Amino acid sequence: MSFSHLGLSEKVLAAVAATGYKTPTPIQDQAIPHVLARRDVLGIAQTGTGKTAAFVLPMLTMLETGRARARMPRTLILEPTRELAAQVEESFIKYGVNHNKLNVALIIGGVSFDDQDAKLMRGVDVLIATPGRLLDHNERGRLLLSGVELLVIDEADRMLDMGFIPDIERICKLVPFTRQTLFFTATMPPEIRRITEQFLSNPVRVEVSKPATTVAATTQLLARSGRDGAEKRDTLRRLIRSAEGMKNAIIFCNRKRDVATLHRSLLRHGFSVQALHGDMDQSARTAALEQFRKNEVTLLVASDVAARGLDIPDVSHIYNFDVPIHADDYVHRIGRTGRAGRAGVAITIVAGSNDAKAVAAIEKLIGQPIPFMDKIAGTPAEPQHEPRSEPRHEPRHEPRQTARPPQRGRHEHQRRPQQPERRPQPQQQQPAPVARIEDARPRRAPQPVRTPMDDGDSSHLPAFLLRPVPLKA
Ligand code: AMP
Repeated sequence: MSFSHLGLSEKVLAAVAATGYKTPTPIQDQAIPHVLARRDVLGIAQTGTGKTAAFVLPMLTMLETGRARARMPRTLILEPTRELAAQVEESFIKYGVNHNKLNVALIIGGVSFDDQDAKLMRGVDVLIATPGRLLDHNERGRLLLSGVELLVIDEADRMLDMGFIPDIERICKLVPFTRQTLFFTATMPPEIRRITEQFLSNPVRVEVSKPATTVAATTQLLARSGRDGAEKRDTLRRLIRSAEGMKNAIIFCNRKRDVATLHRSLLRHGFSVQALHGDMDQSARTAALEQFRKNEVTLLVASDVAARGLDIPDVSHIYNFDVPIHADDYVHRIGRTGRAGRAGVAITIVAGSNDAKAVAAIEKLIGQPIPFMDKIAGTPAEPQHEPRSEPRHEPRHEPRQTARPPQRGRHEHQRRPQQPERRPQPQQQQPAPVARIEDARPRRAPQPVRTPMDDGDSSHLPAFLLRPVPLKA
């Protein structure tokens, strides 16, 4: 089956052909005709299924007629994170190459209001926004939502996790009742069901599962480590240095401050690494991601919130520097590798009894045990202190082509004798095949209440907590 039977315009079909995609994915196949028929759609699908194109392609087709008025966007797409919003914008650029007059604006936190305001003033066909910043513009009277013909709510269950549902409800009430709504979620917890019942009008339900091949090729392992930070960092370095076939890797930490610490440490040890967490300003986040995507750096240290849903094709290794607090996050983290049937490796560092408990919860969720690695190459460890010869602050860093550290300073050989590389011992590792994400997610473990301190990433906070509070003189 090709794209041509879906009802898309010639311009859109030409752009799709240019990308090389020949066959629509199941969500595209099932959703696009309904979107074009102006039906509300409830799409139960997650990143990796091609869901972005499932709304971008018909939107481009529909937007070929009519034009935008100042401050009154014609369509609105809500995304939980800035990175996801930027990714959707990229899709509009990719599939909209033949739509010269289309105005797409990104309204996200962390960048200047004035530039965004100027874009809104020019008239916007597609507004892609995170909820908090959108409401800020609306409250300032800079943005009217009364002209929105089509509303997309993407990654709704992630919005729920991040506390955005009250904002979503407010926005739904600001856009016209007669609009068309496309709603995407990976799971249907009761709160999401309530929202769909309240804000969708007789929706077509389209449910797709991610192909099993996406993560079936991922080998999952656990690596034992001492508990303190230096010991864990040492374990991680040995894991990276002994990794076979590493092209690139994402290293996940639970807290953003640990992302920053680990990033600095890896830089000091000479690794090619960038960081991604919610405290970085937007341009730094975008630059870090871009460098990683282009293989200018090999490692990306990230927090869950910053990395959720990112489309980074072909990551060879995932390291969980911290066992994720929520078992759900484990499935999302390892979903970054083993994509499109490629082999991937996901290794989780386990340090102490709390970690063991969290691993047990993950194993319960994915329905299978994850074996421990027998031995990590590079033992005995190098000294666990950070190199002193390098500055404590983040040094300027030249991108390198390899994750392995280059030959270091003149005393390096005294500290860490060059060792012949020892390969992991495959006969002792029993890689666990990965459960499909859709198998794992619905059995969501009860989630403890997250506090900003726990989570360490402010980008998940409800927008009203992040807005400035007017102080009385
Ligand atoms: P998404 O689920 O929207 O994050 O898309 C996941 C990946 O699939 C992206 O890299 C898309 O470019 C890619 N993709 C989207 N549609 C297709 C298609 N019909 N055939 C092959 N790849 C696709």
